[in-house]
Amino acid sequence: MSEEASGRKDLAAVRGTRDILPGEVEKWQALEGLARATFELYGFRELRAPVFEPTELFEKGTGSTSDVVVKEMYTFTDKGGRSLTLRPEYTPSVVRAIIEHRLDLEGAPMRYYYMGPMFRYDKPQKGRYRQFHQIDIEVFGEKDAAVDAEIIEMAHALLGRLGVEGTETLVNSVGCRAGRPAYSAALREAAKGRLSDLCADCQRKAETNPLRIFDCKIETCREIAAAFPSIQDFLCAECRDHFARLLACLDVLKIPYRVDPRLVRGLDYYTKTTFEIVSSGLGAQNALLGGGRYDDMMKDFGGPDVCGTGFAMGIERVLSVAEIAGPVRKILYVAYLGEEAMKAGLELARFFRANGVECLIEYKDRGMKGHFGRANKLQAARVLIVGPDEMAKGRFGLKDMATGKQVDGSREEILALLLEK
Ligand SMILES: [Zn+2]
Ligand SMILES: [Zn+2]
Repeated sequence: MSEEASGRKDLAAVRGTRDILPGEVEKWQALEGLARATFELYGFRELRAPVFEPTELFEKGTGSTSDVVVKEMYTFTDKGGRSLTLRPEYTPSVVRAIIEHRLDLEGAPMRYYYMGPMFRYDKPQKGRYRQFHQIDIEVFGEKDAAVDAEIIEMAHALLGRLGVEGTETLVNSVGCRAGRPAYSAALREAAKGRLSDLCADCQRKAETNPLRIFDCKIETCREIAAAFPSIQDFLCAECRDHFARLLACLDVLKIPYRVDPRLVRGLDYYTKTTFEIVSSGLGAQNALLGGGRYDDMMKDFGGPDVCGTGFAMGIERVLSVAEIAGPVRKILYVAYLGEEAMKAGLELARFFRANGVECLIEYKDRGMKGHFGRANKLQAARVLIVGPDEMAKGRFGLKDMATGKQVDGSREEILALLLEK
C-alpha cells in the first residue's frame, strides 16, 4: 500500500475500536486459554449468545435508569424496522437464552462463561474502548452466599494464574427489594440537603434513582456520597444473614476482603452481594472485575424465579497488569533451490506440520543466501535445506540458526531431532 493510501482516514478503525495484531494477540490467546481452563475446573461451560439483541432486552435487563442504557448503547434500526442493540453487557443475553431454551429444566448445573466484545458509546480514553472485551461468568439457581464466595475465589485463582498481584477485594450487600425503598428514601433525603453541590446528572438521579449517585466519577459528588447513609444499615434480616454467610465463606477460603458500603455497582439489577477486585497498579479506573447477585432478573424477564450471580472481567484492563509471556515459537524455515526442490520442500513442510512442527515455506526463489537472510530476519530457529543434491540422496540439511551447527538426515531423522528439544 502506498503511503498516501495507508494514511487514508476512511480506512482507519472506527474511533474507540482497535486492531489486536500478531505480537499482541498471543497474550489475549493465553489469557483466554487460562480463563477457559480455570472456569472448567469449577464446572462452568461456555455459552455463546449473539452480539446483538432486541433493544428491549437491555432496557429491561440493564435497568431503564442506568447510565449504560441512558447514554451508551449502540442502538440501530435494521432493514426490517426492528430496534436492535449491540450488547453493552452479557448477562441479559444469558438470561434470555436460559428462558428461551428452558435450561433451568435440564438439571445440569447452570454455570456459564463467555468471552467476547461488548459495545458502549463511552468517551474513548486511554485503555477504554467503545468495543471492549469481557470475560463473563454466571451461576444460576444457587441462592446460597457460599457460591458468591466460590466465584470470588475462582476470580482470584484466575488472576493468580495470570500473574496479577497487588489486588484488593471489596464486598458489599445492596440488599433485596424489601429494603430498597427505605434506603432510597434516606438517600433522597440526604441528597436533598446537598442538591446544589451535586452535578446536574446527580441532581436528576437524586429524584429518579439516588443509588446511582454512588457511580458518579466527579470528585465533589464522590465526597458528598461518602457521607450518605450506609446501605448496610437498611438490610432486612435475611439479607444481613446472607452477607454474614458470604464473609464467613470468604474466611473459609482465606480470601482477604474489605467491606465497602458504597459499592453499589453501576447496574440496577443487583440484589444482595456486590463485589469488585481492584488493582493497585491501575489509576482511578482500577476495577479488574466486578459483579454481584441478581436474584430478580429472570423473574423480571417473565421467566422462572431463578436467582443468579456472576462477574465480568475487563480483558483490556486485566492484560495491562497481567504478567503473561507469549509463546516461544520455533519456526522451521524451508530453504530450497529451484522448482523441483520447491515442490519437495512443499511436501516436506506438510510432513513436518502433520507431526506438530511449525514450518514456513515462501514461494520466492531467493537462492540459498537469500533464504538464509530471510530466515534470520524471521528469527527462524532452524532452516531445512532442500537442494538438488539433498533430493537425490533423500537426506536433507538442518541448520540450527542459534548455534550455526548443521547436520543432515532423512526426513524421519530430522523430525526426531526437531521433536527432541
Ligand atoms: Zn433483604
Ligand atoms: Zn455527580
